[in-house]
Amino acid sequence: MKIVFATGNPHKLKEIKEIAGDTNIEFILPAEGFNPIENGQTFEENSLIKAKEAARVSKMISLADDSGLCVEALNGAPGIHSARYADTPQARIDKLLKALEPFENRKAEFVCAMTLVDENGKILHTTKGICKGEIAKSQSGNGGFGYDPIFLVDGKNQTMAELSEQEKNEISHRGKALRKLIELLTP
Ligand code: IMP
Repeated sequence: MKIVFATGNPHKLKEIKEIAGDTNIEFILPAEGFNPIENGQTFEENSLIKAKEAARVSKMISLADDSGLCVEALNGAPGIHSARYADTPQARIDKLLKALEPFENRKAEFVCAMTLVDENGKILHTTKGICKGEIAKSQSGNGGFGYDPIFLVDGKNQTMAELSEQEKNEISHRGKALRKLIELLTP
């Protein structure tokens, strides 16, 4: 089964392909012209916007993920604005560490909402995955992407960026959401 994965982020596509592993699902990138306007108010709304846009340009069954980091002491920020919180990945990490300086509570969670639509943009399935942890005082590790170097995974003494790709996929928000979706597709 071929499914368009609605992203421009090569890290996400790589993770999705690894999580799907040896299922018979092949993920491909959207056709030219994929340019979603992510103006939803929730992860769910934005994943639907991206999935519909991928189906519109590709005329194929399409899957989108919208994800981000929600920090409790910051009332859920950066949340749906995670990708635009500052200009570069390093600037986003620095800004978050600075914003958390006055707080003792460093609890946070990664959230991933997935939406699968048919070639006409009609919703087939939605799933969600959450990975709980805390924001470290400083960054460490080179794996993963985005906020991984400052996300300490609950139950592990490591940041997400210190885990192997396989370890990250086993516990990540994206891994959980995609495995639920695969179960719905292959009962
Ligand atoms: P999206 O592409 O609109 O879903 O934006 C997601 C943003 O949230 C990314 O650009 C990252 O900043 C952050 N994010 C989402 N998932 C992860 C993850 O697995 N690790 C680190 N950062 C993530």
